[in-house]
Amino acid sequence: MKEGHPKGLYLLFFTEMAERFSYYGMRAVFTLYMVAALFTMESASEIYGYYTGLVYLTPLLGGYIADRYWGNRRSIVVGGMLMALGQLLMFLSASCVRPAIYEADGVIDPAVDNHLAVLLMMGGLFFLILGNGFFKPNIATMVGSLYSPDDKRKDAAFTIFYMGVNVGATLGPLLCGIFEGDYLNPSRFKWAFLCACIVMIISTLTFYLLKDRYVVTHDGQPVGIKPAHQQRAVKHELSRSEKQHIAVIFIIAAFVIFFWAAYEQAGVSLTFFADQQTDRHILGWEMPTSYFQSLPAIFVVLLAPVMNLMWDLLGRYGWEPSSVMKQAIGLALLALGYWFIAWGVKDLDPQVKVSMWWLTGLYFIHTLGELSLSPIGLSLVSKLSPKHLASLMMGIWFLSSAVSNMLAGQLSTLYPDGSAKSLFGWVEIRSLYDFFMLFVSMSGIAAVALACISPVLNKMMKK
Ligand code: GLN
Repeated sequence: MKEGHPKGLYLLFFTEMAERFSYYGMRAVFTLYMVAALFTMESASEIYGYYTGLVYLTPLLGGYIADRYWGNRRSIVVGGMLMALGQLLMFLSASCVRPAIYEADGVIDPAVDNHLAVLLMMGGLFFLILGNGFFKPNIATMVGSLYSPDDKRKDAAFTIFYMGVNVGATLGPLLCGIFEGDYLNPSRFKWAFLCACIVMIISTLTFYLLKDRYVVTHDGQPVGIKPAHQQRAVKHELSRSEKQHIAVIFIIAAFVIFFWAAYEQAGVSLTFFADQQTDRHILGWEMPTSYFQSLPAIFVVLLAPVMNLMWDLLGRYGWEPSSVMKQAIGLALLALGYWFIAWGVKDLDPQVKVSMWWLTGLYFIHTLGELSLSPIGLSLVSKLSPKHLASLMMGIWFLSSAVSNMLAGQLSTLYPDGSAKSLFGWVEIRSLYDFFMLFVSMSGIAAVALACISPVLNKMMKK
């Protein structure tokens, strides 16, 4: 077996790192920008939910167009340019925004006309959503295409690539966060959006200039060029085993919905928890609430090599779990993380704050789950997809994140606020313990069910 990884992996690593820097950097200040001058908190949350949901829906379109017409390379360049344009419109929106909030009560002043800023922002979101659709599935597909179908290095390659995602996700909010504005100076956010725009241009340009040299297979064949199999795609000639492989992708993607819906509480209910029920003092300094959101990304970067090493070691003894089983382990770890915190807040008085170790511990456990599920899932999709549908299948994989992100916001409304809430008039949520246990059950049941059907799925995956 060949040692090391092709150079193309590192170009894709860098390109995706810069794109995720831009995406997460903008996302970190996005709601703050909206509530500083344009929208109420409720509307801002809704827009945020739709945005984070839709960015994962368009990969279906981007994947389809790449497989059918453009190939991955062109799709990435087009997607990157659209995203840079989206960030530019966000910059222009924040450049013309005017302070519009009454200091006393936080109400939006009707005398201030910020319509243009809203319009530019909506245009920006449109291009970001569209651009992400062309960029995200195609860059992941190309990682897989660097290797031959049965190359054992694929899981490790996707885990390295996933580190790139998370280096970007760590640094973006840190840099863009410097330019947080407020209701007195909402225009300051423009610098954050400009940073996101510049980094997106760097990402696209680097890929554009270096792709021909590095994004090639080990025998020098270009990867991700215009597809040569349109004819085949038109007839949809799928063999029986190809159909089974596609079915496996759909089944696993359906389970993964439960993972991200619980995981993505990080941006909503877990942020409320960090804000209201966590003592954030370290040696007299109070840590900003938003810092908690970068914890999972930092943990991914730190733990990814450890996980790779662990799979490698287990593999040597023949104990490495199958890719499907790794998805189930990811779900189980998510349940474990929620169980850990549920235990920490059991019988907690609503006024009392808990130590930040509970939330830190939860994110640590969740990250182990994420590393078991997310990069391995990408690798699995890459291994199972028929070549002429590889990017579309990646789009299907991200479709589950679209559903999850929308669901996450709905589940977060069950966060206890004193009144009893119920899920479909079925489960009563009265305390934080109940709330966290809901996620324990959700991901725990999904983990067990997936583990139970894994032998069947493994069989379907065989050629
Ligand atoms: N956090 C990862 C990324 O941004 C995974 C997102 C997902 O699949 N939902 O790429």
